Amino acid sequence: MKKTIKDIDVNNKRVLLRVDFNVPLDENGFITDDTRIKLELPTIKYLLQQNAKVIICSHLGRPNGEKNQKYSLLPVAKYLVKELLGRVFFVSDCVGDEVEAKTKCLKPGEVLLLENVRFYKEEESNDPIFAKNLARLADIYVNDAFGTAHRKHASTFGVAELLPNAVGFLMGKEINAIKAVIDAPERPLVAILGGAKVSDKITLINHLVEKCNTLLIGGGMAYTFLKAQGVNVGNSLVDDTKIEVAKEILAKAQENNVKIVLPIDYLCATEFSPNARAKKFSGNIPNGWQGLDIGPKTVKLFKKEINNANSIVWNGPLGVFEFKHFCKGTETVAKLVLKFKGKAVVGGGDSVSAIKKVGNTNKIYHVSSGGGASLKLMAGESLPGVAVIEEI
Ligand code: AMP
Repeated sequence: MKKTIKDIDVNNKRVLLRVDFNVPLDENGFITDDTRIKLELPTIKYLLQQNAKVIICSHLGRPNGEKNQKYSLLPVAKYLVKELLGRVFFVSDCVGDEVEAKTKCLKPGEVLLLENVRFYKEEESNDPIFAKNLARLADIYVNDAFGTAHRKHASTFGVAELLPNAVGFLMGKEINAIKAVIDAPERPLVAILGGAKVSDKITLINHLVEKCNTLLIGGGMAYTFLKAQGVNVGNSLVDDTKIEVAKEILAKAQENNVKIVLPIDYLCATEFSPNARAKKFSGNIPNGWQGLDIGPKTVKLFKKEINNANSIVWNGPLGVFEFKHFCKGTETVAKLVLKFKGKAVVGGGDSVSAIKKVGNTNKIYHVSSGGGASLKLMAGESLPGVAVIEEI
């Protein structure tokens, strides 16, 4: 088990806290969605209660290693001043003598927010000198940036090798919740998988075929599986280089006694366009048509499996849910997951935004805050930002 902030003494210590404050800003620099900051407040508040001197670092956007005010964390500093009752300072750099001096002036119970770490190209290349310069700012390192835990950057990996370290509450919760449902679920465990490309999710599907009782596959990637079974999928999204892999997964599922449910009907269009009109087909899809959503009979099949489940993991939309005529499959499944009484884990940016669109997600066991990181964790892969943290 990884060390958490509860396992270390932070009293009077300078704690470098890596967070994911990669929030969306409008053209005037106002934060349009504060979810990521809100998720981080429990860790910050706990550290302050423990009399730590909290030095926060994060990335924001993709400034490509250059200083660019468009990606400044100053709006986040202003937000934190209000949330944390004024004990927050901001410094317009993230390394160097001036920053180091400021960390040394900090009193217990105060926060110093550093400027965007991605203003330096050395951040993403995990440059050892840059990591050392970050390490000079603190006595202890805490990683709570789940959203970037799959990245081996200086502020998520390199610096952790140089300081005593731990994970924060958000990181701990993400790891425990995702692992609990996938590694020790109450059965039956049903995975709902969608999204565009099979190639992005091969490791995930291969892993889940070993862990789940049932896999419901929708979205663009279903058509590669359907083609592998000899179904005519018309012009639907297919990765022909992955047909053999799809066949192997179907065979492995049979061997493991795992049920894979593929769509039996689809809403199709003749063009990939937001205003495309939908036509329903069952079985084969005629040439010239592409499947953009699962059809009502498939939704019924999926519903039966979801209602039978005791645990659920969901990653990826079941259709092109951004298009008004092709969002129904994803939204119906999202509503079923919202009503689900067992442990459900939802990961991946699109599934999370789909479920938030249809209702309040407070009662769901776990809605992950990290897209790429949750995909990797669900796929049983190790996250560098977590692997580097000390075990208890
Ligand atoms: P991913 O990032 O792999 O989870 O893919 C999400 C994207 O998959 C969304 O933007 C969806 O519009 C897209 N998608 C879902 N179903 C389909 C489909 N049947 N055909 C093409 N794209 C799809």
